[in-house]
Amino acid sequence: MKRSFHPPSRLLVLSALAISVAIAAVDLLSAQNTPPPAAPAPSPRSFVIRSVRIFDGEKLLPATDVSIENGLIAAIGKNLKAPTGTKEINGASDTLLPGLIDSHTHAWAQALDQSLIFGVTTELDMFSDPKFDANIRQREAAGQNLGGADLRSSGTLVTVAKGHGTEYGIAIPTLASAADAQSFVDARVAEGSDYIKIIYDDGSAYGIKLPTLTKEELAAVVAAAHERKKLAVVHIGSQAGARDAIESGADGLAHIFEDEPPAPDFAAFVKQHHAFVIATLCVNESITGKASGESLLSDPRLAPYLDASSAGNLKKAFPHGPANKTNFANALAAVRALRAANVPLLAGTDAPNPGTAHGVSIHRELDLLVQAGLTPTEALRSATSIPASTFGLTDRGRIAPGLRADLVLVKGDPTKDILATREIVSVWKTGAEADRASARAQVEKEKQEAQASAATPAPAGSESGLISDFETDVTTSKFGSGWAVSTDTVAGGKSTAELKWMNPGANGSKGAMQISGTISDAFAYAWAGAMFSPGSHPFESSNLSSKKAIRFWIRGDGRPYRLMFFTKSGGYNPAIQSLTVSTEWKEITVPFSAFQTDGHDITAILFCAGGSPGAFTFAIDDVRLE
Ligand SMILES: [Zn+2]
Repeated sequence: MKRSFHPPSRLLVLSALAISVAIAAVDLLSAQNTPPPAAPAPSPRSFVIRSVRIFDGEKLLPATDVSIENGLIAAIGKNLKAPTGTKEINGASDTLLPGLIDSHTHAWAQALDQSLIFGVTTELDMFSDPKFDANIRQREAAGQNLGGADLRSSGTLVTVAKGHGTEYGIAIPTLASAADAQSFVDARVAEGSDYIKIIYDDGSAYGIKLPTLTKEELAAVVAAAHERKKLAVVHIGSQAGARDAIESGADGLAHIFEDEPPAPDFAAFVKQHHAFVIATLCVNESITGKASGESLLSDPRLAPYLDASSAGNLKKAFPHGPANKTNFANALAAVRALRAANVPLLAGTDAPNPGTAHGVSIHRELDLLVQAGLTPTEALRSATSIPASTFGLTDRGRIAPGLRADLVLVKGDPTKDILATREIVSVWKTGAEADRASARAQVEKEKQEAQASAATPAPAGSESGLISDFETDVTTSKFGSGWAVSTDTVAGGKSTAELKWMNPGANGSKGAMQISGTISDAFAYAWAGAMFSPGSHPFESSNLSSKKAIRFWIRGDGRPYRLMFFTKSGGYNPAIQSLTVSTEWKEITVPFSAFQTDGHDITAILFCAGGSPGAFTFAIDDVRLE
C-alpha cells in the first residue's frame, strides 16, 4: 500500500525532545572523549555598573551604582568606590535585571549556551537524561559551565507505560502502581532529581487517548516526593487534570490548560492550595496550531543570534486535529484569573517544543504574560524572584549584595515596555560576561556557509534520485559514500547493528537491506541502524535541494523506528521523524520540509531503532529522493 508521510501521531508537549536527546547524545560524546574546555581567560569578574536603573527582582530602583566582586554582587548605592583598574560600565540609559530563569525547558549543553546568549542564566529542566544533568552539575561546580545557563532538573519524569514521555525513543522507567510510588521517587532522587515531574494527562484536551496515572497513583507520587522534601510539579493537559493535580497535593503545575475557560472558582482553588503555576504560554499557543515563536524571527534585536535550527523550530506549530479542544484564549484567561488571585506565576517556555527555542523564547513568554494581563514588572518577577523563591534558589533571582552576579543589562526600561528585555547590552553569569559577539559571528558564518553550499552542484549520480535498490548487495549506492552501521557506541552505548542483504525485496524486487541488532540500556538515548552519506566521504555536505522528499519501502517487527536527517547547518543535531512500521512492506514518503531543511546541506540520513532495550529487525528497500 502506498502511504504518504503522516505527521508524528502524538500531539504532545514534549515532541521535540527527541531532537534534544540526540544532541545530548553528542554532548555526552564530546564530554567523555575530549578534555573539558579550558575555562575562559580570567575575565575580570569584578566590575562596576554606574547610574543604572535596577529591577531587583521585585521592583524598580532609581538609577544607582552596582559593584560586582569575584562573581558576586558586592554593593548597591550611589557613587560606589572601586579599586583603580576596575572595569566601569556606564548604564545611564539601561536597566539591570537579575539573570532570567526559564522554569520549563528540556535541556542539552548547546541549549544552555544558547540560553545564556539571550539572558537566561538558569534553566529549570522538566525532563532530560539524568546523566546529562549530572555532567552539567559537575561542570558547573568546577566553573566549566560559564558559557551556558545553570541547570536544575527533574531528570526522568514519572509516567505510566505508553504514557506521555515514553514516545521519544528513550528508554525510561515507568510507574506500575501506587504501591511503587516511593521506590520510584527514591530512584529519581538517587539519580539526582532536584524535583519530581509527574505526567497526568490522558490526551483528551488534544483529542487523543493516552494512558496516564490514576488519581490515586498521582497522589501517591506527590506524597512520595514530599516524603523526600522534593517539590512535585505536574504536567496537565486539561482543567480537570489541573484540579486533580492540585487536590492531590501538587506543589505546582508545569503548564496551564486551555481545553476550556477557567471555571469561576479555579484560581481561588489554586490559591487556597498554595500551588504555583508555570504558564508555558508559548507552547499553549503552538498547540493551537499557531507557531508562537515566528514573530521573533523578524525582531532585529534577536534574529542575528538565532542559528538555523532555532529559527526553524520557531516557525513550527503542533499539528492541530479536528478533535483538539485547545483554545489559546482559554490559557490567557486562566493566567489572568490566577494573577488576580495572587497565585505565583512562573515563566516557562517548554523549549525546544514546536514554536520555541532555548533562550530567545523567554522574551516571547514575557510578552505573552503581559498580554494575559500581568504588568511588565509582574512578568519580570515571574522570570526572576518568583521562580528563585519557589524552587529554593536562594542565591539568585534578585539583585542584592551577596547574591550571584547573574545579570542582564538591557537598553530602555522593561518595567514600562516588556519588549525592552530583547535589547540586550550584556549578560553575565556569576560575573563572567557571555560572549554574545562570538555567538552572533558564528550565526553569520553559518548563514554564509549555507548560502555557499546551496550554490554547489548536486553530487554526481544523484540526478535520478535513486540511492539504493539493494538488488545485489547492501553496501553500494548510486551516489555518495554508501551505507554504514551507526550505533550509540560512539557515545558510550552498547547497542549493535548489522546490515545484511536479504531476498526477496519489497514490491516484487530481488533484494532489500535487512538491519538487525540489539538496543542496549547502557545509554539512555540508545540508537542503532544504517546510515547513508550522500557526499564522497561520510558527513560531507551535499546539495540535494533539487529533490523535495525521501521515499522508501520499509517493514519491521512492530517496534518504533526513526528516520533522521543530518545537515551541515544543524551540525550533529538531527531532525527526526518517527516511522510507523508494520510487519508488511509499505512505502513511505517524507518531505524534506518535515526535517526543516530544503536539502541544500545534507550530511547523512539515518534509519534506526531506539527506545526500549532488546533485539530488533527491520528492512528497507528502494530508497530514493524525489
Ligand atoms: Zn515540557
